[in-house]
Amino acid sequence: MSDKKSKGQRLQKELSYHKQNYYELADKAERKAIFAYADGYMKFLDAAKTEREACDFAVRTAQKAGFTEFRFGDALHAGDKKYFVNRGKSVVVFRVGTLPLEEDGLRIIASHIDAPRIDIKQNPLYEDSGMAFLKTHYYGGIKKYQWTAIPLALHGVIALKNGETVKIRIGEDPKDPVFYINDLLPHLGQEQMSGHASKLIDGEQLNVLVGGLPYPDEDVSDKIKLNVLDILHDKYGITEEDFLSAELSAVPAFSARDVGFDRALIGAYGHDDRVCAYPALTAVVDNETPHTVLAMLVDKEEIGSEGNTGIQSKVYEDLMEEISVALGANFRKVRAHSKCLSSDVTAAFDPNFAGVYEKMNAAILSCGTAMCKFTGSRGKSGSNDANAEFIGEVRKMFADEGVVWQTSELGKVDVGGGGTVAKFVANLNIDTVDLGVPVISMHAPWEVISKADLYSNYRAFLAFMK
Ligand code: MN
Ligand code: MN
Repeated sequence: MSDKKSKGQRLQKELSYHKQNYYELADKAERKAIFAYADGYMKFLDAAKTEREACDFAVRTAQKAGFTEFRFGDALHAGDKKYFVNRGKSVVVFRVGTLPLEEDGLRIIASHIDAPRIDIKQNPLYEDSGMAFLKTHYYGGIKKYQWTAIPLALHGVIALKNGETVKIRIGEDPKDPVFYINDLLPHLGQEQMSGHASKLIDGEQLNVLVGGLPYPDEDVSDKIKLNVLDILHDKYGITEEDFLSAELSAVPAFSARDVGFDRALIGAYGHDDRVCAYPALTAVVDNETPHTVLAMLVDKEEIGSEGNTGIQSKVYEDLMEEISVALGANFRKVRAHSKCLSSDVTAAFDPNFAGVYEKMNAAILSCGTAMCKFTGSRGKSGSNDANAEFIGEVRKMFADEGVVWQTSELGKVDVGGGGTVAKFVANLNIDTVDLGVPVISMHAPWEVISKADLYSNYRAFLAFMK
């Protein structure tokens, strides 16, 4: 074979579009950077399993880099480094740029820090047949059967009547106990296993096992429950009534780990969407830019972006307006010139389930962060459907900075789909497109991503901020 390429080969290279594996394209130094960046991300994953913990992590990270808290009404100046906390569950970290805001607009990277999990009900504790349990109501779209028979940790807060808040985080330290949702043994599972997978376990069967030791007093009933209450009272000063104003979640007690002989991949709970939130945070915290840039880490995406911590809340619009006013800019003009990367994960093509994907348009693992022009399902319903002109603009930003990226669609047209925060940001008259990391086994207790795609996502944000 000669080295010389035929005319057809040259033409093919020139005219055709192909996805390329980022690991293959990266030189030695870039591979090193890919792996080094993943280390920091994995520490974030272990420190931040709930939106509150992710919010705290972001604030600590920003503070270390000299960012200070912004409150409505505060003055702002070019070069300011600020963060805005919304009820401890969402945070916007931002830099004020030097370019005129009315012409340049805001550059927004919007990601979410909530993840599917098992929430504890408000009156949860009971005992039955030698065991104490907590009743739950799951949060987000899960395959319920995946959450049984794995170690779980309890995270959250208990708000007391006196205004104090008790933080709970049990099951992450190797010395801690963990919790558990029972499943049926296969020996007795014949009927269960012949049923529909969504019915393998009911929502009301997702009860978290929390105890088995009876309180030593012959004169009381529900001794195991009482003993659990006694422990909770000793340790946290709480009574059963305090569950009424608690937000407790059972999350997988697993840590983030390298996956594969070559360590190319990361397995962890909650890549969706911390794999976009972390690059958004670090891009804005660690890098100067002439633009006014916002890393938005929001809550409640998994249940429709509702409530005053979800992106549909006016608080984010208010913040953008406050920034505009503080800089003497007309908010409507600022919005009209703003741009947003709605950064959320997408499904990576999985050859084990090839039938649900349309491979030409599916995200391929390690081919870079994936842009979705439209999300939604069955006729693009519920989609932002980004404008071609804006995608063209973003393509140029990525090309100028040598970002390896790909396009994606979540699955076959008639099979299903999903939504993101994109449409809510776009509704503000802001050009918005979805861009995020492809995930294997999305919404499972332990999901998998590629370190190359994580780093590509970070590089994409840097290009967007350039
Ligand atoms: Mn998501
Ligand atoms: Mn999700």
